Amino acid sequence: MTTLPHLLRPASYVYGTWHTAPDGPTVLDAAYGRPLAIVSSEGVDFARATDHARRVGASALRRLTFHARARLLKALGLYLLERKEAYYALSTLTGATKRDSWVDIEGGIGTLLGYASMARRDLPDERFWPDGKVERLGKEGTFVARHLLVPREGVAVQINAYNFPVWGMLEKLAPAFIAGMPSLVKPAPQTAYLTERVVQDIIASGLLPEGTLQLVSGEAGDLLDHLSEQDTVAFTGSAATARRLRVHPNLVARSVPFNAEADSLNASVLGLSVRPGDPEFALFVREVAREMTGKAGQKCTAIRRAMVPRGRVQEVTEALRRELSKVTVGDPARDDVRMGALVSLEQRERVQETLERLRSETEVVVGGDRELLGGDRERGAFLDPTVLYCDSPLTATGPHELEAFGPVVTLLPYDSLDEAAHLTRLGRGSLVGSVVSHDRAEIAELVFGMASSHGRILVLNRADAAENTGHGSPLPGLNHGGPGRAGGGSELGGLSAVRHYMNRVAVQADPGTLAMLTREYLPGAEVHEDVIHPFRKTFDEIRVGDSLLTHRRTVTEADIVNFAGLTGDHFYAHVDEIGAREGIFGKRVAHGYFLISAAAGMFVSPAPGPVLANYGLENLRFVEPVGIGDTIRTRLTCKRRIRKELRSGETRPTGVVEWHVDISNQREQLVATYDILTLVERARDGFDPPAPPTGER
Ligand code: NAP
Repeated sequence: MTTLPHLLRPASYVYGTWHTAPDGPTVLDAAYGRPLAIVSSEGVDFARATDHARRVGASALRRLTFHARARLLKALGLYLLERKEAYYALSTLTGATKRDSWVDIEGGIGTLLGYASMARRDLPDERFWPDGKVERLGKEGTFVARHLLVPREGVAVQINAYNFPVWGMLEKLAPAFIAGMPSLVKPAPQTAYLTERVVQDIIASGLLPEGTLQLVSGEAGDLLDHLSEQDTVAFTGSAATARRLRVHPNLVARSVPFNAEADSLNASVLGLSVRPGDPEFALFVREVAREMTGKAGQKCTAIRRAMVPRGRVQEVTEALRRELSKVTVGDPARDDVRMGALVSLEQRERVQETLERLRSETEVVVGGDRELLGGDRERGAFLDPTVLYCDSPLTATGPHELEAFGPVVTLLPYDSLDEAAHLTRLGRGSLVGSVVSHDRAEIAELVFGMASSHGRILVLNRADAAENTGHGSPLPGLNHGGPGRAGGGSELGGLSAVRHYMNRVAVQADPGTLAMLTREYLPGAEVHEDVIHPFRKTFDEIRVGDSLLTHRRTVTEADIVNFAGLTGDHFYAHVDEIGAREGIFGKRVAHGYFLISAAAGMFVSPAPGPVLANYGLENLRFVEPVGIGDTIRTRLTCKRRIRKELRSGETRPTGVVEWHVDISNQREQLVATYDILTLVERARDGFDPPAPPTGER
């Protein structure tokens, strides 16, 4: 049995100080029911906390670029990993086994690190994010537009459920921080002591600027009354609470965005084609059992409904019974225990009540008391795994509406794939669904039958059995959240989660002004020509808009014949006089690849210099054909610069320079256009962000 720490008093961290309430409700430990913590936010001034976030936190974050914020998050993730043992020790007291805790603690820190690398890889080293392509609005090209994303100038309020006290906080904190919004985190009281322990370390690390993270341990008081138009609320919890909070009068009056990730009746479908000896049969049974019992079923993504071909119900029930018999229940601190307790006796009571209601339309096919390995049967919140069977899932309502947030699953028989997909949709929107099958046609029917009502779908079979991350694991790069009953929201989802915390503004202007604002060259903007060839400049010397207009070159028949001989590309449009005359150009034309090769010959500066390598080519379009006798010329213009960080072991600082290339003919018509990426030597190191354009805050 884990020895209890002295009575914990998780504090709130608000307006730069730790605030401990004098008294409050007592939280008990999950497996033995011993008094563990007093959790209350009494005395917290919520108006002051939201103001502190906006004035101190938001303005500190807005001074940093996306990459600077990402580097802080990365350092923080590594710092927390070094201290993880303390979190594991507390996590056990919530009823979580070591494996459950791993998902919460290392999964949460991994999410933070995931955002840190995503931001450095996919976002510019800027404080704004040019989004999508430039829209040309006028015929002459003097009026263009682009969308820019900038951080909202408010506080990101994050209200979390009790089941993932670490991951739940970090999955929201990370995208908000990257976007440039300070977070005010309110964990659920049952497990707030673990969240608080992590926040203690975050604050002690000194890595996050003051005001960018505040914590409310305890009730939310009048917090939502103090939010205004620039703030956001991200909620994780039950659908019932989400329903109440989204119509909070102040949130409605001030159009405060409210993102909800709520409970959902997630389904897993065993394909009609699967036979009991197939690997998919065993995969299905294992996945259902694992999802039911992981975190004692207290996972919003757990499988609640298992759809099985009617003729297979008996076999699946037996296999599940065998699989579940291996699940040992008891004190989660013990290594021989596979499933711990629910978080509290109240939570167990809620699940038992829901089970009772489900019983009117189902029968229990696997259940019963098992021997406890440690823990207290009376005072601990234990509940044995229970499998229900519903014979008429098309007419029953309970299995599609009632979430028993514990180790409970309902088996639902189906007769056709259409019916299986229909049954999944009766859940009215789910976070995740899975299809277990190796039959491609069946998979396609199920995936598209389920897609409109799911946030994520896992296809599980022998091909991905070894590597798949499981039905219930949200991943930072993928959508987490679902339509309809699942909350209608999404929090994770790669960079789309970052967008939640930003305002999107369409800026309409002339190309030169837009290039100045976005620090990206776009066609029509002014260019600067210099006596120094752009390839002779280091990364630090190159400016966006630096440009080179090359000499001309007349394309001859010899060019085409030589290029065909060199590459072996004897396509008729280049080498067959008759075929080419009858083709769409009416004449022989140069190979497109010849044009881009010839352009490189025109613009490169061949001697060794700061340009180290060609990195790639993007956005290539051949616009007009080039025939024998046409004369081409190339313009190379610096479009964007991306500073690269030195990786461990690297000694040569570099950056990527993106060049826009236009090839035109003697009539000044564009014949080809593309961007090339070069790796260019950087003279100095350091992370100083580029100076903001005038007026940027
Ligand atoms: P809950 O009772 O809905 O509470 C969720 C959070 O909302 C808690 O922090 C709660 O704190 C807070 N809250 C409740 N009323 C509030 C109010 N008026 N103002 C401000 N905050 C308020 O859910 P739970 O019991 O903690 O968690 C279990 C549920 O969460 C399950 O249904 C599960 O499916 C769902 N869940 C969903 C996801 C997902 O990603 N979709 C993830 C995890 C869990 P107080 O108790 O202090 O009010």
